[in-house]
Amino acid sequence: MSDVRPFLPFARPEIGDAEIAEVVDTLRSGWLTTGPKAKRFEDDFSAFLGDPKLHSLAVNSATAGLHLALEALGIGPGDEVITTTHTFTATAEVVRYLGADVKLVDIDPKTLCIDPNAIESAIGPKTKAIIPVHYGGLAADMVAILEIARRHGLGVVEDAAHALPATCGGKLVGTLGSDATVFSFYANKTITTGEGGMVVSHDEKLVKRMKTMRLHGMSRDAFDRFTATVPSWYYEIVAPGFKYNLTDIAAAIGIHQLRRAEEFQQKRQAIAESYAHALAGLPLLLPPGPPAGDLHSWHLYAVRLADDASLSRDAFIEALFAAGIGCSVHYIPLHLQPYWRDRYGLAAAQFPHSQHAFEGLVSLPIYTSLSEADVARVAAAAGAALCG
Ligand SMILES: *Cc1c(COP(=O)(O)O)cnc(C)c1O
Repeated sequence: MSDVRPFLPFARPEIGDAEIAEVVDTLRSGWLTTGPKAKRFEDDFSAFLGDPKLHSLAVNSATAGLHLALEALGIGPGDEVITTTHTFTATAEVVRYLGADVKLVDIDPKTLCIDPNAIESAIGPKTKAIIPVHYGGLAADMVAILEIARRHGLGVVEDAAHALPATCGGKLVGTLGSDATVFSFYANKTITTGEGGMVVSHDEKLVKRMKTMRLHGMSRDAFDRFTATVPSWYYEIVAPGFKYNLTDIAAAIGIHQLRRAEEFQQKRQAIAESYAHALAGLPLLLPPGPPAGDLHSWHLYAVRLADDASLSRDAFIEALFAAGIGCSVHYIPLHLQPYWRDRYGLAAAQFPHSQHAFEGLVSLPIYTSLSEADVARVAAAAGAALCG
């Protein structure tokens, strides 16, 4: 039996008139690529995080931002970077771009964030950095992770693709004191520019390198040694850099999305609370809320089927799809992906918590325009599939 109501997608961006007007203004301005709007978006982003010492660099994806941060940290061949198996491949692939190797570790079974104890056990002589992921918008245990990094002299680059805004110990992710933090503005993230990202850092040296590498390895600094006024046409190429700058067209969207980030978070939190209420009593493990006083961005609402549920995760997703509801799985762990599995000879038994979570994991629709009626519809379909 199929549902005649409109299909409920898994994710949907909320773009307002202000975003549209700003894009039109950019198109009419004659300046389309990186310029005044990208600069404004960066300044607004630093202001949003409320930390005057923080630098924000707009990039054309979070993947680009992660790559830039690791490059600036000097990661290269012979180095190892520790990250979670329970993530999107972008988190890990950037390590391979630089010729370094990835050491995947297991997660905390409650939060599905990287397990600090697993990090500690994975540290070896080649380890140079850690990339924690704030899974679904719940901050990883950054107090423990930063302490481990300090003790072993390791870099920390946070994959905060899900975590705008989220807090850890009352402080916004982005201001926690890691070397760099990277946000994503991909179409399904908590704020969007279509494609885009932001790297933030306190480290002047790192910021300078990332700025240079973001645009072809171009620098105007060398000229400063000889004269105070640099001609507008002058630059030097100091490295084979990348093409990772954000366009003003995209930044125009971001400026207005950012203004709504808190409102969006509140809407997502209300949806998460509605789900918790509507799904209570079903054989599902619901995602944990944040620690008292902390903020969860609720990028994802990922539930897990109970071990003794009457149907498989795959059948559950099919049943919801038949009811006109889109779901997803975050993530197929990297240890199951052919490239990562084969390169490092990985087996599921090495990652029992991620593996077990994956087998029952389903991300339900969550986005700002999801209504109470939509939540009730998802809960009813879930109930019918599990208990019908
Ligand atoms: C979306 C995502 C990325 C990549 O973001 P892009 O902006 O698409 O490059 C990286 N890590 C995680 C965990 C993500 O969800």
